[in-house]
Amino acid sequence: MGRGESAGGLVEQARRAGVVGAGGAGFPAWKKLEARVDTSICNAAECEPLLFKDQELMRRYPERVVDGLRRAMRATGASRGVIAIKAKYVEARRALERAAGGDIEFHLFDSFYPAGDEVIVVHDVTGRLVPPGGIPPAVGVAVHNVETLINLSFAAEGRPVTRTAITVAGAVRSPATVVVPVGTPVREVVAAAGGAACDDPVALDGGAMMGRFLDDFDAPVTRTTGGLIVLPRDHRLARRKAEPEAVKLHVARAACDQCRMCTELCPRYLLGYAVEPHAVMRSVGFAGDRGLELGEAGLLCCECGVCDLYACPEDLPPRDMCVRSKRLHREAGRRPDPPVGLGRPHPMRDARRVPLSRLVERLGIAEWDVPAPMIDSPPPPAEVRLLLKQHVGVPARPVVRPGEAVRVGQVVAEVPEGQLGVPIHASIDGRVVAVDDRAVTVRR
Ligand code: SF4
Ligand code: SF4
Repeated sequence: MGRGESAGGLVEQARRAGVVGAGGAGFPAWKKLEARVDTSICNAAECEPLLFKDQELMRRYPERVVDGLRRAMRATGASRGVIAIKAKYVEARRALERAAGGDIEFHLFDSFYPAGDEVIVVHDVTGRLVPPGGIPPAVGVAVHNVETLINLSFAAEGRPVTRTAITVAGAVRSPATVVVPVGTPVREVVAAAGGAACDDPVALDGGAMMGRFLDDFDAPVTRTTGGLIVLPRDHRLARRKAEPEAVKLHVARAACDQCRMCTELCPRYLLGYAVEPHAVMRSVGFAGDRGLELGEAGLLCCECGVCDLYACPEDLPPRDMCVRSKRLHREAGRRPDPPVGLGRPHPMRDARRVPLSRLVERLGIAEWDVPAPMIDSPPPPAEVRLLLKQHVGVPARPVVRPGEAVRVGQVVAEVPEGQLGVPIHASIDGRVVAVDDRAVTVRR
């Protein structure tokens, strides 16, 4: 192994550079690299409707993706490296094939949702089922997002994560993928895509299916922001996402007829796990506010949204009830062993997969299903707000004061030694203008 390629080397480089899982919650990459596995997978399925970020990154930076994957393989001892990508991403795949040697395999997915669910990726690539409540290293596999691998490649050269790639799609004038400094206000990212093309715009931060409702366009983007779907506030999808929990709870109690469609199409159930959203809905109806009686049928839910946004004929919120059930268990300090379920894929699994084209129609976003190519980065914003918690673990603690001058890449907040988390870096040159318990603000 060369310099910087030992397991310890990359783990420390990833920690110092602030690399986190760019595809979701922001799990610190260094922690994942500590595991010993036999297979490393690049999760290039990008299955959220309207998002193009990973495809654009793979087309533009294939060498970085492959370099990051090879480094992750060496760090974790993996002898098998696989890029799991949709067959229809032809250009991205060709670019990666040119960059990869014979040491990297390709696994091709059909166009269904949610092909990129980590547990599905592990099963479809290796045939292994992650144990209920476990993580992929439990079966010898590590799964890395495309942008995470690019960031690992840069981290090995001492370059921290200061920018993030974001697809801006939906009701905007020029759907695009842009790379912006972490901490840029959402308003400026949307402006880079030509601005909203509707009155009273809101956004789904993270995608149409798994994204969260956002109507504060002054909010900053983080290292994990990957997609902003702009919609009119009165769009059905926006209204569903914005509903308060009390309303969802009321609807869930009142209208579920126990048809089981949510369970029969649930990707986790079809993979053999004991996820049964109809049972969670039934419990909600009977258990009232006694959350612990919601049972364990929702504990392994990946929150993909197939049950509520695609399957349920009544437009009910089984996913939200699964999320609520998980939260209530957590708040009560309960860590029940998740039930095992079938333990093997359902015989009808292939026939019940959700085609992306049908999903887009069902969500009412077909008119915006157009490419969002990567465009030149807009000028850096005048001000960035760097949140102290952009990752799983403890928040970072500020190490700068108002008035201090900072340069791009300088650490502005650090995580105490031995704790799960990553440092935060300045994303523009400028001066610190505010420090509070949530963020460090830097102005040019
Ligand atoms: S939540 Fe919807 S799909 Fe599920 S059982 Fe109830 S009515 Fe059927
Ligand atoms: S969101 Fe619904 S469909 Fe998706 S895993 Fe959870 S229960 Fe299953």
